[in-house]
Amino acid sequence: MVGAEGIGNWPRSAIVVGAGIVGLSTAWFLQERGVTVTVVDRRGVAAGASWGNAGWIAPGLAIPLNEPSVLRYGLRSLLNPAAPLHIPATLDPGLWAFLTRFAANCRWSSWTRAVRANLPLNEECVEAYEVLAGNGVEAPVVEAPITAGFRTPRQAVALLRELRRLAEAGQRVEHTALDARALAERVPLASGELRAGVRIDGQRYVDPGRFVHALGEAVVERGATVSTFEVAGVRTGGGKVVVRSGDGDVLSADAVVLATGAWLPRLASRWGVRVPVRAGRGYSFTVPVDHPVPGPIYLPDVRVACTPYQGALRVAGTMEFRDPDAPRVPARLEAIIASARPLLRGVRWEERTDVWVGPRPVTPDGRPLVGATAAPGIYVAGGHGMWGLAHGPATGRLLAEQITTGKQPAALREFDPLR
Ligand SMILES: Cc1cc2nc3c(=O)[nH]c(=O)nc-3n(C[C@H](O)[C@H](O)[C@H](O)COP(=O)(O)OP(=O)(O)OC[C@H]3O[C@@H](n4cnc5c(N)ncnc54)[C@H](O)[C@@H]3O)c2cc1C
Repeated sequence: MVGAEGIGNWPRSAIVVGAGIVGLSTAWFLQERGVTVTVVDRRGVAAGASWGNAGWIAPGLAIPLNEPSVLRYGLRSLLNPAAPLHIPATLDPGLWAFLTRFAANCRWSSWTRAVRANLPLNEECVEAYEVLAGNGVEAPVVEAPITAGFRTPRQAVALLRELRRLAEAGQRVEHTALDARALAERVPLASGELRAGVRIDGQRYVDPGRFVHALGEAVVERGATVSTFEVAGVRTGGGKVVVRSGDGDVLSADAVVLATGAWLPRLASRWGVRVPVRAGRGYSFTVPVDHPVPGPIYLPDVRVACTPYQGALRVAGTMEFRDPDAPRVPARLEAIIASARPLLRGVRWEERTDVWVGPRPVTPDGRPLVGATAAPGIYVAGGHGMWGLAHGPATGRLLAEQITTGKQPAALREFDPLR
């Protein structure tokens, strides 16, 4: 491993590029270890995927994307523009190279490897949130079960089977099957079309924008500066790492952490990081509701996640492989509404606000990229796909340990960015 020891002493200063949940968590835990931190983001705090996501800290559902059924499902979706998974017909060779690698990983062996690799993040994620919330990050972390709703008990079997597979791979998930009556009691928003459910206990949720902003404020309060500019390049020299903006402004420190989400390859590929990261873009919006929402609702068959949000409901869904900076596609939003509308009642769909699109940073093998690159003092943290909000703080804690000790924690071995 090349890391802190490669540049002499352990780093006393670090620049974190990317002010999402992963970058800011890393900044916080670096500060905990006495490192002076500067955070840089091209648009400010929570400007990427970390704002409008579903807010689930859900170790019980942090299931890697690359399961075999996704392949069949993906192929069918190619023919259906309203499907929750959307791959635009494009000639982008990078996208097709990524999808080929992703398809090659849609095997149970790869999936199980990703589940096992993610176990330490799942085991630690709630505790890492509690550490932040208990030490100056002023935002609530709410405990609540997540309830999945299905049209038929048969459809619920697929999730139950998946939870069994997770348990076989080492991840125990406390859950209970619900009949139609129990589901209606638990989810007052469930329409008559939802006739079966599964309650997954021991989960948490947050208002992600509020949490990440509170984390940004805590990092500043502990002495960091947050600068807004786009990093155009990173280099090493004279025992330092230098980041430079497009205008030629430079900052230098003993170490740099690239935590730029779906944009990660733009800065990291130069430093030996060959695993591609692509934007699996999701959409969300907020809708007023006529019934109480006691906790998150999961609609697996249409791949929609709903979360109590500021007295209303945040609805999130869809996975579209498109450039992270491309404009919103209204048809994707309409597809979410059309699929979820029959399953929920008392939702005022037409009064939606906060319409948002954000890029999940997806890797082809279901494992994030966390650790040292080929260049001394340059680290990456990203590629958490569907579960970066849940895994961000635990990632930050582990990476801060690696940066300040020069030793790769066992929990990060499978996430080696140079794999
Ligand atoms: C619809 C949807 C729902 C989701 N729901 C959940 C959920 O319930 N639970 C969960 O765990 N995860 C969820 N996710 C996934 C989660 O949002 C992401 O995995 C996570 O936010 C990634 O965090 P990040 O810090 O790596 O990236 P980001 O939050 O995207 O942050 C990267 C930052 O880097 C900055 N940046 C990029 N390039 C540069 C540059 N060159 N210079 C300076 N700054 C730069 C960007 O501006 C951005 O702020 C969801 C995602 C979506 C889209």
